[in-house]
Amino acid sequence: MSTATEPQIDADQLQVSRIRALRGPNYWRLAPVIACDVQLGGLEQISSADIPGFYERLTEAIPTLAEHHCTRQEPGGFLERLREGTHLPHILEHVALELQSLTGSDVSFGRVVPSGDPDTWWVIVAYEEEEVRSMKQFDSAHLRPPWSKRRNVAEYQCGD
Ligand SMILES: [Zn+2]
Repeated sequence: MSTATEPQIDADQLQVSRIRALRGPNYWRLAPVIACDVQLGGLEQISSADIPGFYERLTEAIPTLAEHHCTRQEPGGFLERLREGTHLPHILEHVALELQSLTGSDVSFGRVVPSGDPDTWWVIVAYEEEEVRSMKQFDSAHLRPPWSKRRNVAEYQCGD
């Protein structure tokens, strides 16, 4: 039975409302980035540690996330953050980078920053191939991650 203290998790709350390719030098770096507007709705206070089985399902789907340093400055750093509980846009950032890496792109730059709108986060990730850049790939059936029934889902200043 649920209790009043258990988080309510509704994957439909996560929305990607805009995706922009910034093809030249931009605010975040000199090379191209994807800027993605993400709204979390009721998931704003949810971390990866709040979702039963999330860590296991994500690492099974994308084992190579184990190579991400994140803020810990060594391989496995991101997985530590994931186990401890990290914000969903941070996870989106790492997944977007890793999916590109798996297709052969050499990308590692990512950030999650407040947009100025309290309901919207900006997920900023590097890309090399514009055809690969679109996070809409999460909506395609063959790439839809198994940790979410609908739209998939990646903090803060990683810098890895
Ligand atoms: Zn990170």
